[in-house]
Amino acid sequence: MATLDSKIPKGPLKDKWTDYKNHIDLVNPANKRNIDVIVVGTGLAGGSASATLAELGYNVKAFAYQDSPRRAHSIAAQGGINAAKNYQGDGDSFYRLFYDTVKGGDYRSREANVYRLAEVSANIIDQCVAQGVPFARDYGGLLDNRSFGGVLVSRTFYAKGQTGQQLLLGAYSAMNRQIARGKIEMFNRHEMLDVVLVDGKARGIIARNLITGEIERHSAHAVVIATGGYGNVYFLSTNAMGSNATAAWKIHKKGAYFANPCYTQIHPTCIPRSGDYQSKLTLMSESLRNDGRIWVPKNMEDVLAIREGRKKPTDLSEEQRDYYLERRYPAFGNLVPRDVASRAAKERCDAGYGVNATGEAVYLDFKSAIDRYGKEQAKLKGINNPSADKTYELGQAIVEAKYGNLFQMYEKIVDENPYETPMMIYPATHYTMGGVWVDYNLMTTVDGLYCIGEANFSDHGANRLGASALMQGLADGYFVLPYTIGHYLSNDIRTGKISTDSKEFEDAEKEVTSRLDFFINNKGVNSVDYYHKKLGKIMWNNVGMARNEKGLKEAMSEIKALREDFWKNVKVPGDQNEMNPELEKAGRVADFLELGELFAKDALVREESCGGHFREESVELDGLQKGEAKRNDKDFAFVSAWEFKGEPADAILHKEELEFNDIELKQRSYK
Ligand SMILES: Cc1cc2nc3c(=O)[nH]c(=O)nc-3n(C[C@H](O)[C@H](O)[C@H](O)COP(=O)(O)OP(=O)(O)OC[C@H]3O[C@@H](n4cnc5c(N)ncnc54)[C@H](O)[C@@H]3O)c2cc1C
Repeated sequence: MATLDSKIPKGPLKDKWTDYKNHIDLVNPANKRNIDVIVVGTGLAGGSASATLAELGYNVKAFAYQDSPRRAHSIAAQGGINAAKNYQGDGDSFYRLFYDTVKGGDYRSREANVYRLAEVSANIIDQCVAQGVPFARDYGGLLDNRSFGGVLVSRTFYAKGQTGQQLLLGAYSAMNRQIARGKIEMFNRHEMLDVVLVDGKARGIIARNLITGEIERHSAHAVVIATGGYGNVYFLSTNAMGSNATAAWKIHKKGAYFANPCYTQIHPTCIPRSGDYQSKLTLMSESLRNDGRIWVPKNMEDVLAIREGRKKPTDLSEEQRDYYLERRYPAFGNLVPRDVASRAAKERCDAGYGVNATGEAVYLDFKSAIDRYGKEQAKLKGINNPSADKTYELGQAIVEAKYGNLFQMYEKIVDENPYETPMMIYPATHYTMGGVWVDYNLMTTVDGLYCIGEANFSDHGANRLGASALMQGLADGYFVLPYTIGHYLSNDIRTGKISTDSKEFEDAEKEVTSRLDFFINNKGVNSVDYYHKKLGKIMWNNVGMARNEKGLKEAMSEIKALREDFWKNVKVPGDQNEMNPELEKAGRVADFLELGELFAKDALVREESCGGHFREESVELDGLQKGEAKRNDKDFAFVSAWEFKGEPADAILHKEELEFNDIELKQRSYK
């Protein structure tokens, strides 16, 4: 077992990043021109990293499997991006953003990284505004903010419900400037299928051109993985259909450790599942919890009447409703962190209060907000004693201005008007906090191999706070990696071009080709989706929100059996030398079938409840966690190394340096 060194700089938390930057080795501008960097993934993390590295003078080769960086999954981000600007004067600071993030993550994040994240958060907003990102502004023209779960300040910057899209267009324009100058070579529709190590250092990748099927070798002095999260291991999730674990998993098999694979964010506000033939779940942004109130009926008769269509939710009076988050957590109310809201919804539905046919839905209701805004608008417009209809009309306009596109999306999917009848929501897989282990430099356990954005593990512990993923991706790409990678590359100024005519490239290419050949020639009987759906069911039932030892052991053996069946009976139609989406999927699902088992194993060795996960043996009914006390306050990361023989190696518990002792590890409570 290797010893992990997180390379956290010495000194007080607040000085670490500044001191680090003051003392690292730099590469002079002329030498940067001789250095190549591969960036795999051009979502917000990879796009911002590619643009910045090229702006600095490095030669960047960027890869994405979509037809344009603009289609990365980051485009789906709705609600916003956090930054400690304190524009509202409501008491925000770097320290508070740091504290909220560590606390929100159940004290399992690496503090030094999170403090740095809080420090650079403010720069991100300036950078994006300079790029022309159209953040929402208030009446006076200043940037507006809203609140997200788990915090008591308003620090979320947003662009209606399309923040990810607007930020991605900003990063994409910054990339395009460099593509035009020839500093970024963009490989759209290319999928990385392996990393190439030469003398223990990452020196290139093997990629498949997804249009022609051609297998290509690409070399560089360093490789950056920015390939996003692996929530699709559950089959149904809010992630883009193409989001996958392949690049992360391939580097894991070549020696990059994986950390906390089982920490998944189960987002509380998604449109509930409607049946077995569904391939995707849809998020309703957390920003809706600024104005929406979550409830289920107080009485079982009303639950049944609603399910049977004898009553509508709007028939129930205030007294007949249980606003359970407001009841349980009066200080945070509907804005408790995601994990707390998800567990509470599950607890109510498990107790039988779910309001749809599957019993897996609670209400998110905007009536109070529409009334409140309507009355305020009437006053502002000098309308005395407005009618109920007028108040409603004025209030609806405000809600529409804030969340219109989300309401429209809901209506299109559910065919109900959410202004008139409350939305139905239920938790769904959304984000993966676990990922590739990285040190303070964002380098993996392989030299010269970096991992940024959702693909790495470091900043969010067991639960990511809303609007913090975009912040982390852009912090990594615009402001952290460009420093840390330079320190490493300063040793490569005399290396010269890395040849792709080496045994290492040849071997890696052979491995990739033989796997593709296998899929095409297997001529099995079951589609790739058949296996993916089965895997998703095992994951959701036994490795989802509620977990116990028996179920986790069963999941591990079921996944193993499913994997064996997959390698015997999977059928991939078509050819290798053409565009073949089934072939792409086959490789990704093969990787999910390995990752899923590791995921369950991680969950098994954690005898605790944390983040969105209950360990059933140790849970109290009100949703708070008895098991917390069991946790040793320092050993919190599960790290796995892959051994080439094909089975995940033993788990090791890794001792992180918790230098920041101000935060006490005690049972979390949002009262
Ligand atoms: C519906 C939804 C809404 C969200 N809303 C918010 C929000 O409001 N605020 C917030 O902070 N976070 C939000 N998140 C989370 C956030 O969007 C993601 O965590 C973040 O965008 C991930 O960015 P990324 O750059 O790490 O990865 P991605 O955006 O997923 O990009 C991955 C890139 O990797 C490429 N890629 C992947 N595998 C390969 C491969 N093998 N070879 C080549 N290329 C590859 C892809 O082509 C893509 O370019 C939301 C998530 C979802 C699902």
